Amino acid sequence: MLIRAPRGREISCHGWPQEGILRLLLNTLDPEVAERPQDLIVYGGTGKAARNWEALAGIIRALQELEDDETLVIQSGKAVAAFPTHPLAPRVIMANSFLVPAWATWPHFWELEKKGLTMYGQSTAAAWAYIGTQGILEGTYETMAAVARTHFNGTLAGRCVLTAGLGAMGRAQPLAVTLNGGVIIVVEANPETLKQSLRKEICQVLARDAREAWQLAEEACRRGEPLAIGLPGNAAEVYPEMVKGGLIPDVVTDQTAAHDPLNGYVPAGLSFAEALELRRTAPAEYVKRSLRSMAVQVQAMLDLQKHGAVVFEYGNNLRAQVAEEIPEAFRIPGFVQAYIRPLLAQGRGPFRWVALSGEPADIFYLDEVIRRLFPEDEAICRWISHAQSHVWFQGLPARIGWLNFEERIRFALEVNKAVQTGQVAAPVAITRDHLDAGAMASPRRETEGLPDGSDAIADWPILNALLNASNGATLVGLHHGGGVGIGHSVHAGMTVVVDGSAEAERRLERVFTGDVGLGLVRYYDAGLGQARSAAQNRIKFM
Ligand code: NAD
Repeated sequence: MLIRAPRGREISCHGWPQEGILRLLLNTLDPEVAERPQDLIVYGGTGKAARNWEALAGIIRALQELEDDETLVIQSGKAVAAFPTHPLAPRVIMANSFLVPAWATWPHFWELEKKGLTMYGQSTAAAWAYIGTQGILEGTYETMAAVARTHFNGTLAGRCVLTAGLGAMGRAQPLAVTLNGGVIIVVEANPETLKQSLRKEICQVLARDAREAWQLAEEACRRGEPLAIGLPGNAAEVYPEMVKGGLIPDVVTDQTAAHDPLNGYVPAGLSFAEALELRRTAPAEYVKRSLRSMAVQVQAMLDLQKHGAVVFEYGNNLRAQVAEEIPEAFRIPGFVQAYIRPLLAQGRGPFRWVALSGEPADIFYLDEVIRRLFPEDEAICRWISHAQSHVWFQGLPARIGWLNFEERIRFALEVNKAVQTGQVAAPVAITRDHLDAGAMASPRRETEGLPDGSDAIADWPILNALLNASNGATLVGLHHGGGVGIGHSVHAGMTVVVDGSAEAERRLERVFTGDVGLGLVRYYDAGLGQARSAAQNRIKFM
């Protein structure tokens, strides 16, 4: 079945808040957006938007019937009830993939998933806020820019980055590196994905083997020209080969779906087709081989680090998967602690907005709003220019924009005005990634190495969701295991449908003061003093 969100001003629900959420749900399953829409899989290994086809039909029906004073309850991708609440309450609340802590392991999870009792929701897949590769692109671009600032005088020109994985998140890496002037070699196990990456111009060239990839990279580095090179193979084979051959890239990371050793990572020593067969016929053996291969890959990353490469983990839990076998794995830093935390500590985070009309012109109008409102914010203005020339819309037109605390509130209010005055063709949904200051507890990623050691405290995302529900965000969700897998993260999602009403104005100010402000409180509480000054006078710190 082909799924695509409706466009235009005509709606099939009782109001725009319900319609907006319905369009976002359907949009995550649009074939332009989702990795495997036929399996309801949106991205990130097996991150799903609904538990099964029957559950999807149930959610669609429930949203179409939902009144303006009711709240729909979603339990791991299935609508379970609509309750009478009130117009200012969220229209949808959800909890995804949770298990009580002592049961929170992949084997327990897979058993319950097989019985149809739960689903893996990743972050924005289950939260219906996924917008395709653009959603991760600016974050990846900012990470690579921070790598360049920290180690290479502000540019990756003449530098070679080695990584792996061209999946939904991973395919943001080539453009993020080349926009920073660098050369990138991406190892990918799935030959079909590689072919597609060439067709979609994600990679400019495919190498036959590691030697050829290295030669192409060296030549491009010498010329100082950006280049994205795809390399068929397995990271657990190619990375050690680089060590052995004395081929030491400037930067090494990876975005294989290592968070899930069964359905994400591909073990070495097998063709991709053989790996799929083993996954189906002998899952325990598959997991064993995956973990062994990850250990080999991490050892090679440590060796490359010893030889002078800048090495970091890119948020897929690779280090923790092998920590028992290789305790030194944590000599490799995580990307948030190393590069992104200073942004989050100012309340700067991955805001995104979606034109529910389906009109690209709405997004381009809002790009100009950003430039008009924040001319002094060089990073966002530079990003908007890059996005306009390099980003193609997938599904409903959308934009990611990392904005700070005050900017998010001001921009949301301007979006409301644009809807009110008809500058945009229909309401706009404002949402965000879960990689945000107060929305994520993930001790191997977002909350790794906090000054007070509170990395594993998971109260904050729960408080974030409670506050967003109190303030009337249209959709509020709590999620488990996104990014790094079951047992390793708790996170909260939120979306507001901006409909241009006077009531929406007050709601937007409340929601974004709470949503972003709680992140600043969390960081301040953890010992990052700068977070308090970013909050100005909007929050009463205790
Ligand atoms: P995906 O499942 O869409 O793609 C993973 C890709 O890696 C696939 O193309 C697969 O063929 C390839 N692969 C797997 N094992 C390999 C190996 N050993 N060698 C070479 N290629 C291999 O996943 P995705 O959406 O791209 O996400 C990648 C990872 O990043 C996941 O673990 C995800 O949880 C994590 N993630 C990171 C961020 C971030 O901000 N950095 C955000 C969300 C998720």
